[in-house]
This record gives sequence, structure tokens and C-alpha cells, in this order.
Amino acid sequence: MTELFSLPPDAAEPRLHVARRTLERLRGVPELALRYADCAAPRTLDGLAALPPLDKDGLNAALAHLEPRAAPGAGATWLFQSGGSTGAPKVGHAPTGFYMAGVHARWRPLERDDVFVNAWGAGRMWGAHFLAAALADLAGCRILAVGSVATDEYADWLRFFATARVTAIGGTPSVLRLWFARARDAGLELPALRKVLWLGEAWQPQLEADLAAVAPRARRWGMFGSTETWVVGTNTPDCPADTFHPLPEQLVHVGAAELLDFTTLDPAVLNPVLRYRTGDAGTLLACPCGRPGSAMRVLGRRDSVVQVRGLGLHVDEVIARAEREPGVSRAQVVITEEHGRAATVELLLLAGPGGPPDTERLRRAVLSATFTLSTAFQHDPESFRVRRVDELVSNGRTGKTAGLVVREGS
Ligand SMILES: [Zn+2]
Repeated sequence: MTELFSLPPDAAEPRLHVARRTLERLRGVPELALRYADCAAPRTLDGLAALPPLDKDGLNAALAHLEPRAAPGAGATWLFQSGGSTGAPKVGHAPTGFYMAGVHARWRPLERDDVFVNAWGAGRMWGAHFLAAALADLAGCRILAVGSVATDEYADWLRFFATARVTAIGGTPSVLRLWFARARDAGLELPALRKVLWLGEAWQPQLEADLAAVAPRARRWGMFGSTETWVVGTNTPDCPADTFHPLPEQLVHVGAAELLDFTTLDPAVLNPVLRYRTGDAGTLLACPCGRPGSAMRVLGRRDSVVQVRGLGLHVDEVIARAEREPGVSRAQVVITEEHGRAATVELLLLAGPGGPPDTERLRRAVLSATFTLSTAFQHDPESFRVRRVDELVSNGRTGKTAGLVVREGS
């Protein structure tokens, strides 16, 4: 039988008092009161699964009403932009330390001897830089808080990293790709680099090729989480890149359509995280690394279906098709809407080894294999385009490069 919860009842149920308290907090939010009015306080995992899931809008309504604060003596209350590459900024709250002591108790990629480059962008209410800094602080290593750099600065920084004998670097996979692709292009190596920490997006297999050239002894160490849940799980080089071991204070549940939801069992957590859905789908299984307990395999986002002229387009499938093409390292779908209707759909390709890709052949292949595109663009097939670009479109607000970008045309 497939497990539906990351913890067995005897481990989770004695800690459900945290979920009951969260339910009481949510009941006090005017926008949510009706939704939770008839819900019984959960005493079992079945009782928890019977509660309605919480989405980002619900959580933001709750935070606006509750305005949670760190407990006295627990430091400041930090407000961060929460994930999501579209829409207006939303906030997640956390006390100083960002719950990383619980992560460090189980996961120690950094050691005292490490020289760690924190390449997650700092400022702009982004959380990951500070979260990684808190982990490095607990490890007692040396920290180079580099953050984001301009295009013409990479080579100088990389030379400095080599001189400083940097052993570890962390960032979102999109940012890490910039670092390693630039190093590879410049013929620079980081021979002391052993560890690549990542969080914020799925791992990009193309990184392995760049790492093999730039830092052949480096291995990946992943975290999975969001600004609402904070770190949910971690993995090691022995785990598949899409599989994470949930922390014991994070209860993971697989719901309908394999949608994951998360419930905090940590009484210190400020966000009311009760069956919170990030939009990620997944499954629980035994990790091939052999570590006991349920691991969470993340299958990608279920909200990657977008309406194009009234038909659902599976963006992930189009991207996966393009990224199988020789010479393509990464792909992105950009939809330009005019008056609410998709005027054009563009598939942008970042060239990789084995290139350049044959854009016209790929265009015909994707068009004929994708019912939504061939139907929606039946009368103007030229409105579906495939282009090679030097850079994909990234979100200046979140620093992420999403698979899908929707923008308003003229
Ligand atoms: Zn594992």
C-alpha cells in the first residue's frame, strides 16, 4: 500500500496538538471562518486528512489577519516574499534562525572547515540567502556572502573563489547554472569545490555536465521547501535529485491528484501551515539511499497547465520535449496575451552542448505532437514560434526562471 503520510500515526498523532492550535488560529480569520467552522479538531491522521487544504491565498489572508510575531527572546520577525513566479508579492513570516536548527540537526552538508559561497540573492525580501546563512552559521564554517552579481563580474569572482579555495557554493539551480556555465566558458576550474547546495527550483541535470568540467569532485545537496513552509526536506548525493527526506516536524501528506500538502508539527512556526498546498505533486516512497522512513519524491507542479485559446496546454510536457532535443540545455514557454487572449506562444531555447538546435524541425515536431497548439493555432500556425536565446526570461522580483512566462502584449 502506498503511504499517504510521511510519518506513521504513532509518531505524528502525539504532536497533532500543534495542528489543532493552527486550526483554532485559522478559524479566527474572518475570510476563513466559514471554511473551518464545522471542522473537528484533528486527533488522528485521518482527522487531519479530513480538513480542507489551504492554498496560498488562504494563507496570505490568514497572515494579514494574524500578523504573527516571534516569541519574546526568539529574535526578530522576518517577512519574506513567498515563492510563486507570478502575481503580486506575498509574505511569509519567520523568526531569526528560520528554523534551521531543526534542519542542521538532521542534515550537515557544511562542516567547520568549509569555505561557503552564499550565492542566493540577498535583499528584496528573498528568504533563501538568510536561511542558508543560518545553516552555515550553525556549521561554523567560513561564509562568503556574495549574493547576485552582474554578468560581467562572474569571471573575476570565480578567480577569487579559486584563490580562496572555496569548498561549497549554494544557490537556486538557475543561478548555479550561470556560475558554472560562465566558469566553463572561461576555462576556469574550482578544484577545491566539493559541495553544491540548492533550493528554490528543481535540480537541473545539465548542471552535472558543467560541474564535471569545472568542479569534478563537487556533489549536490538539496533542500525542498517554500517561504510558507520553510525547509520541508533535504537530500544528499546518494539520493535521487527529486527525492527528499522530510524533517520530523514537517508532516507531508499525499492528497487527491498526488498533490502534496504540508502541516507543521513545530509549535514555534509562525505561519499557520495546516494542509498547506504549494502546488507540487509528489509521492512517498523508500529512498534508494537506504535511509529508513518515508521519502518524498517531487513530481513537479500540477499548476503547470495554462489556458491557451480555451485549451489546456501542459507547459511541462512542451518543455520536457524541447529539452530532449540535442543542443538544448533549457527551454521556456512564453505566452504573450492581447486582450486576455494568447496572441503568440514562444518556445525559447538556451543552447547547450551538441548545438545549435534545429529550431524549425523542433517547431514542427512540437506543433504536430501537441493537440492544444495545433488546434489553437490552426489558422495562424506562425504564432507558435521556437527561438534560440542567450538568456531565458527571469523574474526580477523572485530571481527565479520559471518554465512559463505569461505577459501582456500591446
Ligand atoms: Zn535518500
